Amino acid sequence: MLGRTAALGFEGSKNAQAAFDAVVSVSAECLRQPAKLPSANPTRSFWTHSSPDANPLAREGSHGPLTTDADICIIGSGISGISVAYHIAEAVGNQTILDAPLRVVILEARDFCSGATGRNGGHLTPHTFYSFAVRQNQFGTDEAIRSSALEERTASSLVNIIERNGWSEKVDLVSGGNVCLFFTEDEERGTRTDFECAEHAGINVDDVQWLTRDAVENSYGPPYSAIKIHGHNLWPLKLVTLLYQHAKQRTSEHFDLKLHTRTPVTSITRSSSEDSNAGSTYILSTPRGSISCSRIVHATNAYASHLLPSLAGPSGIIPTRGQVIATRASAGQAPTKTNGWIANRGCEYWFPRLLRPGEETPLVILGGGREASGPQFELYVDDDSSINPVVGKELRKFLPAVFEGKPEHGNEPEMEWTGIMGYTATGDPFVGPVFNFSTGQKEDYEGQYIAAGYTGHGMPRAFACAEVVVQMIIAELTGTQWSRPTWFPKRYLTESRLKHRN
Ligand SMILES: Cc1cc2nc3c(=O)[nH]c(=O)nc-3n(C[C@H](O)[C@H](O)[C@H](O)COP(=O)(O)OP(=O)(O)OC[C@H]3O[C@@H](n4cnc5c(N)ncnc54)[C@H](O)[C@@H]3O)c2cc1C
Repeated sequence: MLGRTAALGFEGSKNAQAAFDAVVSVSAECLRQPAKLPSANPTRSFWTHSSPDANPLAREGSHGPLTTDADICIIGSGISGISVAYHIAEAVGNQTILDAPLRVVILEARDFCSGATGRNGGHLTPHTFYSFAVRQNQFGTDEAIRSSALEERTASSLVNIIERNGWSEKVDLVSGGNVCLFFTEDEERGTRTDFECAEHAGINVDDVQWLTRDAVENSYGPPYSAIKIHGHNLWPLKLVTLLYQHAKQRTSEHFDLKLHTRTPVTSITRSSSEDSNAGSTYILSTPRGSISCSRIVHATNAYASHLLPSLAGPSGIIPTRGQVIATRASAGQAPTKTNGWIANRGCEYWFPRLLRPGEETPLVILGGGREASGPQFELYVDDDSSINPVVGKELRKFLPAVFEGKPEHGNEPEMEWTGIMGYTATGDPFVGPVFNFSTGQKEDYEGQYIAAGYTGHGMPRAFACAEVVVQMIIAELTGTQWSRPTWFPKRYLTESRLKHRN
């Protein structure tokens, strides 16, 4: 089923529904193909490659013997996988959950955090009221409120962790908010409707500023009306690195954490009684050998259907390629204001980075442009080893048009890269126990969980979704009953999602 997709920010755009509608025209065979493994030679992103120390864990655990036995295997080392490890470390703390330490192993196909989290736009902006009206209409007021609550919780938890641990400078945290430009009256009207519905439902929207065209022009430059909402930007890879290191430091007699990068999981099979590691349920195969475990967390986002083929197709998780450039702004121009920006209802998003020593003008990280790529909006493209020149052309034109020729036309970006997002028909992630999503059969998947499919808007959602998966696992290990937190949308749960499928 193709649901009406709520408009999202950051690559979840007003065109999302058109994109999904376009998907219908793709041949059925193509729709059902599972995602490939992450490509071997991805484009280089600013976050992973702009400085030699950007990714100290890049090849951690990629040489030497592979761990052969674990309690929990997390597949994927992006914000989802590392948040799972972080929450397990926090939950275990000093308590004994099993008789022996709880052994957690993270398996990553490429370098550490080299998926979407290492290649995104860097915005951590909760959508307090965006898409509220669509969600309210589609899922009811309570669910629309929970969407907002989950995003606020994620963003504030991450900012609290960053500030409490003194990481703000290390992750380049900027709390300048987000200016969302309206290019058309229709966009402004739709946003006003969302705002009013959310306010009426009791969501706190007191800090939202409505800015007239004159106010925006005077303060920022572009001749459009806008709203300003709260939000942050940061260096996602550095945050994820610190979260991992924090979890690793919790290693104790109760908890053990290992990371193996450059170790793609190629298949998952059930272990047989002859297998040496008694008690393990699954064997994960990798080119470096296999590892046994009793629980698995799929934190593979766009690539989830590679190991879970029933998630292939329009009602599962659709790999979708996004593109970003790092381009130098002209001196004294409005993009130098240290806030984030969204335009075209999330089709384009950008922010000027803080000036580094020796820099005279900031580097602007700008993503989007998929609307120029043709009717399929890069849906079903799972290759981040190349860029789309048409999207690149659109991105190069964008800022000079919005900021009246500055940066100058013809400025070549300093870096350009792609990353693969995991799109879903409703825009919502899949969170919870794994099933065969085509048949509903669950027996073959006991002990497997997933948190994936953020539809281009994962930074303010993944950390809390990981928290919920960890709550479920801890409840299972301790023989207690998991109950859904009040801030968690019911429709994100895998169980609720089964009925949305064909
Ligand atoms: C270009 C772009 C711009 C974006 N901009 C923003 C933004 O500004 N703000 C925002 O909120 N969101 C943004 N997003 C979305 C956001 O980046 C994602 O929602 C989020 O990073 C998802 O995190 P994740 O950990 O679930 O997935 P990922 O970061 O993709 O991590 C999944 C990991 O799993 C690994 N993996 C996959 N299969 C296997 C396997 N079989 N074995 C082992 N490892 C495997 C991958 O290599 C990858 O490292 C953007 C995404 C892209 C691509």
